[in-house]
Amino acid sequence: MAELFYDADADLSIIQNRKVAVLGYGSQGHAHALSLRDSGVDVRVGLHEGSKSKAKAEEQGLRVVTPAEAAAEADVIMILVPDPIQAKVYEESVKDNLKDGDALFFGHGLNIRYGFIKPPANVDVAMVAPKGPGHLVRRQYEEGRGVPCIAAVEQNPSGKAFELALSYAKGIGGTRAGVIKTTFTEETETDLFGEQAVLCGGTAALVKAGFETLTEAGYQPEIAYFECLHELKLIVDLMYEGGLEKMRWSISETAEWGDYVSGPRVITDQTKAEMKKILAEIQDGTFAKNWMDEYHGGLKKYNEYKKADSEHLLETTGRELRKLMSWVDNEDA
Ligand code: NDP
Ligand code: MG
Ligand code: MG
Repeated sequence: MAELFYDADADLSIIQNRKVAVLGYGSQGHAHALSLRDSGVDVRVGLHEGSKSKAKAEEQGLRVVTPAEAAAEADVIMILVPDPIQAKVYEESVKDNLKDGDALFFGHGLNIRYGFIKPPANVDVAMVAPKGPGHLVRRQYEEGRGVPCIAAVEQNPSGKAFELALSYAKGIGGTRAGVIKTTFTEETETDLFGEQAVLCGGTAALVKAGFETLTEAGYQPEIAYFECLHELKLIVDLMYEGGLEKMRWSISETAEWGDYVSGPRVITDQTKAEMKKILAEIQDGTFAKNWMDEYHGGLKKYNEYKKADSEHLLETTGRELRKLMSWVDNEDA
C-alpha cells in the first residue's frame, strides 16, 4: 500500500528558509506561486519575454523576472512550463544557474524519466504533483483545504530532498489532504497510460464509436449526442463520488444488467492486449520520442487529428445542442 504523509509529517519552515523560483504561471504555476507566497515563502516567478501571464502575476502581487534571473536567485527551482519546452528552458535558463545544494522541482516526471533533462549530480531532483488542475489547487488552498499530491525524489545529494518536497507540498496545501510517495518512473508511466488508454484517448474513442453506431443506424445525431456524450458526466460524477458501486446503485436495474453483459463485449481481451502494447511503448520511451519529434517537427499530424475531430458530426451537433443548455459553460475553448 502507498505511504501517505500529512501536515504533521511536514515542516513548513524548510521551504520558508529557501528561495523558490516558479517558472511558468499557467494552470499549476499560478497556484504554486500564490499559495507558497501566502504560506510565507520567498517566491519569484520566472517568465519569458512576451508572456501572456506576466501582467496577471504582477497584479496578484508577485515579482516577475526572467526564467534565468529566477533560477539564479533561487535555490529551489520549480519548472512549470509546458512539458515539451521544459528541456529548452532548462538548457537556456536553468542549467548554468544551478549551484551546489540547489533543488530542481517538477510537477510531472516526463523530462526526467526520458532523459530530456539531465541535471548535474550536485542538485536534488524532486517532484510535487497535485492530482488536480491548478485552479482547484488554488481554490482548495484558499478554503483551508488541499488537493492530494504525489511526491517523488530522483536525486538526493543533500539527503533531505523528500523532506524538502513534503515542505513544499505543505506550502501549497497538499499535506492537508495527503501526499503519496511515488517515483518519477511510476508517476510518468501511469500518468501517460491513464490519459491515453482511459481518461482522454479511451473515453473519446468510446464516445465517438457509440455516437457513430447510432447515427449510422439512422438515429438522429441530437439524440445520439445525449445518449453517448452528454449523459457521461452524470455517470462519471457518480463513479467519482463512490466508485462503480455508487454508479450502479443509482442507475436502473436494466442499465445495470446491460452494463454487466455488454460492457465486456465492448472492451474485450483484444482491447486489453492493445492497452498492454500502449503501456509497453510508454515504458520503452517510444511514445515520448514520437511525441517530441511531432512537437518539434511543427505538430503536423496533431493539427490534422484536431481538425478532423472538430469537424466530426459529434462536435458540430454538440456545439448547437449546448446552446440550449443555459447551465453549461459553453464558451468555446
Ligand atoms: P500551462 O500551459 O497552463 O502554463 C505554462 C506556463 O508556462 C504559462 O504561464 C506560459 O506562459 C509559461 N511559459 C511558456 N513558455 C515559457 C518559457 N519559455 N519560460 C517561462 N515560462 C514559459 O502549464 P500547466 O500548468 O498545465 O503545466 C505545467 C506543468 O505541470 C507540466 O509539467 C504539467 O505536466 C504539470 N501538471 C499539470 C497539471 C494541470 O492540471 N494542468 C496537473 C499536474 C501537473 P504564457 O502565460 O505566456 O502562456
Ligand atoms: Mg498527464
Ligand atoms: Mg439512457
